[in-house]
Order: sequence, then C-alpha cells, then structure tokens
Amino acid sequence: KVLNAPNWIGIDVMVDGVVVDLAHQPLLEFYRELDMQTGMLTRSCVLLLEGNKKVQLRSRRFCSMHNDAIAAIAYTVTPLNFDADLSISAYIDGRVSNHDAHDQEYFWEPVSSHLDQQDGYLAMKTRKTGFLTAHAMHATLQDHEGQAITPVISHYDDKEIRATFSLHSPSGHTATLYKYVAITSSFLLPESEVIPTACNAVKEAATMGFTPLQQQHAEAWQGIWQKADIVIEGDEAAQQGIRFAIYHLYQTYTGKYPGLNIGPKGFTGEKYGGATYWDTEAYCLPFYLKTAGPHVAEQLLTYRFLQLDKAIENAQKLGFDKGAALYPMVTMNGEECHNEWEITFEEIHRNGAIAYAIYNYVKHTGDTPYLHRQGLPVLIAIARFWAQRVNWSDHQKAYVILGVTGPNEYENNVNNNWYTNFMARWCLTYTLECLQAVSEDYHVPQEEQLRWAEIADQMYLPVLEGTRIFLQQDGFLDKVLASADDIPAQERPINKHWSWDRILRSVFIKQADVLQGLYFFENQFDIETIRENFEFYEPKTVHESSLSPCIHAVLAARLGMKAKAYEMYLRTSRLDLDDYNHEADEGLHITSMAGTWMSIVEGLAGVRVDHDRLTMNPLLPDTWKSLSFQMPFRSQPLGCTITPQTLQVTNHGDKAIELLVGYQVYTIPPGERGVVTYKP
Ligand code: BGC
Repeated sequence: KVLNAPNWIGIDVMVDGVVVDLAHQPLLEFYRELDMQTGMLTRSCVLLLEGNKKVQLRSRRFCSMHNDAIAAIAYTVTPLNFDADLSISAYIDGRVSNHDAHDQEYFWEPVSSHLDQQDGYLAMKTRKTGFLTAHAMHATLQDHEGQAITPVISHYDDKEIRATFSLHSPSGHTATLYKYVAITSSFLLPESEVIPTACNAVKEAATMGFTPLQQQHAEAWQGIWQKADIVIEGDEAAQQGIRFAIYHLYQTYTGKYPGLNIGPKGFTGEKYGGATYWDTEAYCLPFYLKTAGPHVAEQLLTYRFLQLDKAIENAQKLGFDKGAALYPMVTMNGEECHNEWEITFEEIHRNGAIAYAIYNYVKHTGDTPYLHRQGLPVLIAIARFWAQRVNWSDHQKAYVILGVTGPNEYENNVNNNWYTNFMARWCLTYTLECLQAVSEDYHVPQEEQLRWAEIADQMYLPVLEGTRIFLQQDGFLDKVLASADDIPAQERPINKHWSWDRILRSVFIKQADVLQGLYFFENQFDIETIRENFEFYEPKTVHESSLSPCIHAVLAARLGMKAKAYEMYLRTSRLDLDDYNHEADEGLHITSMAGTWMSIVEGLAGVRVDHDRLTMNPLLPDTWKSLSFQMPFRSQPLGCTITPQTLQVTNHGDKAIELLVGYQVYTIPPGERGVVTYKP
C-alpha cells in the first residue's frame, strides 16, 4: 500500500502560553474554501480563548502544479482584541503511520535530519522497500510590518525538525508565517541526490516567495482548465460536480512519470491502498485521452507495458505458460497485491480492460504505430492467456470459461460470465486483426493464430432464448428475479446490512456487468438489444460500486432516457460532495470521477469515435441551457457547445474534420465553426 509520508503541513500556535486547538476552544467563525480554479485551499477561523480573547487564524496552502516537489503555506495569526505573546512553530513530523496500521506500527526509519535556524530537512526511508524521501523546509515569520524574525528555537531529532518563533503582537496586528517545503524521493532521483535536491529546491522556492510561487501554480492550473474544463449553464450542482471531479483527477495524475498510476482514492484516503486497478484502463484513460492529450494516455499504457514481465510471471504462478500474461487485479509494481482468491484468480476480466485501453487509444488518436511500439506484445500475451483459460465443452459444443468473477463482485466463482467471455473473444479477434494490420513478424505461429480464431468463433455466450438479453452467467435465471426497489431503504447499501451469503445468492448486481460490455462494445449491438438488456439489468443493479452509475448514465443517454441519464449523472458527480454513502473519510472516489466526465461527454453530449469519424448525439437535461467543453480529435483541438437544439463545433486545428450527427455528415474546415441543429 501507499504509505503516508512525513507530515509537511504541521504548524503549532501558542497564544499567551496557551496552545491553540480547534478541537478544544470555542469557534466563533469558521470558513473553508477550495478554490478549484487556482488550486488554493483556504481556512480561516476566529477562536475564543479564556478571558474573552479573540484570535483569528488564516491559512492558505497549495502543492505546486508547476513544480511537483514544492508546497507552501501562508499562515496568519491576528489577536483581535488584545495584545498577545505568540509562539509559532513550523515542523515536519516523521512519526506518521497509516490509519489502517496496527497500533504503534511505523513504516519509516530515520535516515538523517538537520535544522539551522529556519532551514533544514528530514530524511526518512521505508523499512521494507528502502524508499527514501527528503522533506526540506524553510520557515519565516514576519511581523505586521513585514519584518522577518529569526527563530528562538531550532530543534531537530531523527524524526522531526521544528523551528519556533516568538513575537509580541499588539491587538489587531497580523503575524505571517511562510512555510516552504520541497519533497524529493528515490523514486525519481539517485539516493545521493535526494537530500541535496530537496534543500536546493526549497532555497529557490523561499527566494522566490509565496506570491510568485502561487502565481506559477495558478498559471499551471489555468493551462489545465483551458483544455479540460466543462461548462454547464443552468445547473450549479451539476457544474460543481464535474469541476470537482476534473480538479481531483489532475491533482492525482498528470502523466509525467510512466511508473505512476491512479489509485481508486487517489491520495485522498487509504482505502484500496493507493494501488492500480482496472479502473485506470476502463475509466480514467478516456478522460486523460480527451482532456490532457495522447501523451498522457500513453503513459498509462506504458505503465502496463513496463509490467508485462510481471504479468507473465503472475500467470506462470497459476500454471499458464508460453508467454501468457495475467495482469494483477491490484498492483503497485506489477505484482498482485490483493489477497482474495475470488478476485485475484477469478476477476480475470481486468486483462480485457488493458487490451481495450490499447484499442481505445489507437481508435481515438489514429496512432497505429503504437502497436509496434508497445501494444502488440501486451495484446499477444493477453490473447495467450485467454486461449489457455478457456476449455472446450462437449455439452455446449463451444468454448467456455469457468470459475470467474465478473465486474459484478456480488457473484463469485461463476461459469460463463457473459462479459468475461465476450471480452476474451474480442481480445483474441482484435489481436489477430492487429497482427494482420502490421507487417512485422511477432513470432506468433500460424497454428496459434488459427486456434485463437477458432476459440473466438466458438466462444459460448449465454443468452435468454427468445430475447436479446445476454445472461450475466450460467444459472442466472434460477435466482429470484426481484427489483432493487424492493429492498427496504434501511437495508441499503446491502453490503453493510446483509450477510455475504445472502448477497451472493441474490439477483442484485453491484455494478454494470453485462451493461459494461454493452458500453464498451456498443457499436456491435443494435439499439433494441441495448434497450432490452438495460431494461432487464438496470432495475436489478444496486450501484454499490461508484463505478456503476456512470456506465448506466452513458447507456441511458444513448437510449434517449433523459431523466434516467440525468439521475445517474448526478449520482456519480455529487457522490463525494454530498457524501451520499457517509464514507468520505475513506477517501474520494477518484477513478469514478473519470466516470463522471464520461457521463457528460460520452453520455449527455453523445461523443463517439466510430469508423475513424467523430460522432455526436447530444441529449441535454431539461434545466441545462448549454454545455461546453474542449476535446481533441485526431490531434485537432475542438471546442464544442451544445444548447437544447444546436450543436456548435469549432475546429481550432489545421486539418478538416468530419462530424456525424444523426445520419448526416458535416465537414468542418480548420479555423471554422460548424453549427448543426440536432434532434435529441
Ligand atoms: C469494484 C471494482 C473496482 C474497485 C476499485 C470495487 O468495489 O467492484 O470494480 O475495481 O472497487 O475501485
């Protein structure tokens, strides 16, 4: 899991010898603001101390998006109605643990520390993995006239550095502490450079000062918003929801380093241990692809490419051979980190999501050479896995896949999960297509290719006879086919109220499963097939994974079900802001925030890429006056604005693009705007 690093935000304040503590002294005012436009967190409060003394505290802090080693805090203390003796300490604390760790279990060991007046550092190393970090600090206190004060105590030991300042502050005068921090690690630097780099970086930051640093940071955010913002007119709750999602996604991942990925909770909480899940390929990749651009999406693919050897080793441990790869369900470094067999051995559909991400990337960018660069070795190894994981059933006269867990984790160890079988079949076919498309020799013998084709051709896919409904798995119809509306409100979520035994036997679906397949492969199914399946599965779905409502939102929009699409959109976009499930303390749902973005762009705006052409079929909620966003298509930056009747697309690129709306194709030359009247 990801370990909490030494705490860089620590500041202690004493007023007339009394420790100021928001948990103990009465608060007269409290205000907290996250300015997502400039990436600034502000808190201010007025506390009442004994003797009717009122003191105001205000902090502004940020982690720089311009220089990812730098963070800074400006902290002010103002005695409002008395003359105060202030003592203010800025510190870095290495005595950190994880909330889910055993009592007194620490994962960091001291390496070295130093503090000279207000400049110093604390270096710590993880006990097991030897990961070295240095936190360098520069702290200055200024009185109300901006005069710098030198610390009275500079204390350091092996787990903490602390600079303490004293100041007599007359009533109404504000003292300001500036704390600059630089954090470096052996992830990016050779060990010998970790400490000096942090110390130099903090010196530069302090020389520059808080306001210029903050301006650089705000400019970096401005660059992100210019490309990634979504503007909704007429619905403030929806607007706030999507901006909250975009903000957090960029705080979590910027695509600078291929060795990093996106945990389901990002860095906002400890649940899921900060590890990588299929969420990245299935949900996050489309977001970065269409907001940050291909190079960022490619970094996500590179992460898996670099872990291919480990995926092959993982498959070997389970008895597969000849280069078959099974990517882990949960990972940090390519090794499986999860410990439940029904997930690690059985939730094998994640292999398909990785292949799908390659397909998705190539489809959107047209970057077919990527297949040569990295894509094909990954696809081939995944295809080899599926070819070994199937078995021929004499009974079905088809290839079957037994003992799996589909995306719906409220079923374990089932046979022929439709989604998994469909995904396996698609992976084999797509890999064969890619092999044919590139002329180079990838050492896949003809015989092996023929076998893949035969398996794909004869894969068992359970259907409900006489309908277009795909059955989630063998035996699904033996369940009591109840509706989620029948579950009493006090029993929701069922995972907190029902026994596991009851959940597994029930028909209730945790998250999109068959519908996940219809979402990925929408262009292979007619609209009636999608509708019949949606109407069959949506009432049985309890959406107890945050990854679920967004898929239903996209499909509902595709089906013209405006109210359902909007309901599902709001459910995904305000999940954390409104803390529906009372679980925000576990962390925010970062990967499903990418799903929120999908619900708008792929759902309500109806954006698709099909046969090398961009298509858009919008369906705006009734209250929305307009929806605007930017999006590149085949390297051409596009600006899109949708109103209830019209769709405007401005081509900011240098090549014409083709846009399909309804059944009509429009050509938009470079520098021009196409205005189309559409029928929702
Ligand atoms: C979901 C998985 C998902 C994981 C992390 C689980 O609750 O069922 O599909 O990968 O959360 O988001």
